[in-house]
Amino acid sequence: MQLYNKLSAKERAELIEKAGKDRMTISFYQYAKIGNPEILRNHLFINWDKLEVLGRIYVSYEGINAQLSVPAENFNAFKTHLDTISFLENVRLNVAIEQDNMSFLKLKVKVRDKIVADGLNDDSFDVTNKGIHVAAEEFNNLLDDENTILVDMRNHYESEIGHFKGAITPDVDTFRESLPIIEEDLSEHKEDKNLVMYCTGGIRCEKASAYFKHKGFKKVYQLEGGIINYARQVEEQNLENKFIGKNFVFDHRRGERISDDIIANCHQCGNPCDTHVNCANEACHLLFIQCESCAEKMNNCCSEECKEVHSLPEEVQKELRKGKEVSNKIFKKGRSEVLKFKK
Ligand SMILES: [Zn+2]
Ligand SMILES: [Zn+2]
Repeated sequence: MQLYNKLSAKERAELIEKAGKDRMTISFYQYAKIGNPEILRNHLFINWDKLEVLGRIYVSYEGINAQLSVPAENFNAFKTHLDTISFLENVRLNVAIEQDNMSFLKLKVKVRDKIVADGLNDDSFDVTNKGIHVAAEEFNNLLDDENTILVDMRNHYESEIGHFKGAITPDVDTFRESLPIIEEDLSEHKEDKNLVMYCTGGIRCEKASAYFKHKGFKKVYQLEGGIINYARQVEEQNLENKFIGKNFVFDHRRGERISDDIIANCHQCGNPCDTHVNCANEACHLLFIQCESCAEKMNNCCSEECKEVHSLPEEVQKELRKGKEVSNKIFKKGRSEVLKFKK
């Protein structure tokens, strides 16, 4: 029985192209006590592989967090399978606004300690005492209330290309970092203001809202299903869209456009631009914003140094990379001294 992905990304891309079938990009999560994550992991892989599901899925003792792509014609079968798993019956599925058949090229189901690397000690507070979930319409009403403080629970490179009007957008690299900063900044308003928070798909707010309630905030709200679900509701219910720019997403697409506003700048020339790329130098891979003309000029690299390395023969590059870790991939997302226009 096959329990792991066997095709390379390139082989998979060719297969998807040849099949010519439309795929849907979907995400969902659920906190639940899982007795044996390994068994669940294998069960999901075997069943989803049959349905040609691709994506990145984390399973742990605390639940599941999934970002994936399903052939549209298999969607019903996929949903039926989800409903056979008791804690996933009728789970809310966030369906992407902009579809891309290549959003994922492998099926990776991994067992992790946690479904979000939040860096929190869950035993130190009651994670089930969460904020009030609000849908798009109620969220909009809360934003019109002058007693509301709106906080973006995402990282700097995400809010840089898009966020809700009037939101506080902490300049942080990680979720964990943002919590004490927000608590400190808002410490005067623990009782009088509505603390309203949002993130990409809602999962980060599940823990954050419980954390802030534990810290004494009285009126805590969270956007149900995050920006992804909000954008869909705005469209379906013809509501006012209060989100400007792009929603950063964690797949090949990197972002989906919610409004026409371009609120960021190319990190190399400063022109309006909100397209994230990774530096083409394999040893760097820095995530940054680059316009088309800079991409051409810099050969898709973040710096002259990387451009030079990138132009060397592949063999020589491999030799240079030996024994070095690609730290940018993890810690320095979107931050580097070479980026003149990164604020
Ligand atoms: Zn540029
Ligand atoms: Zn670089």
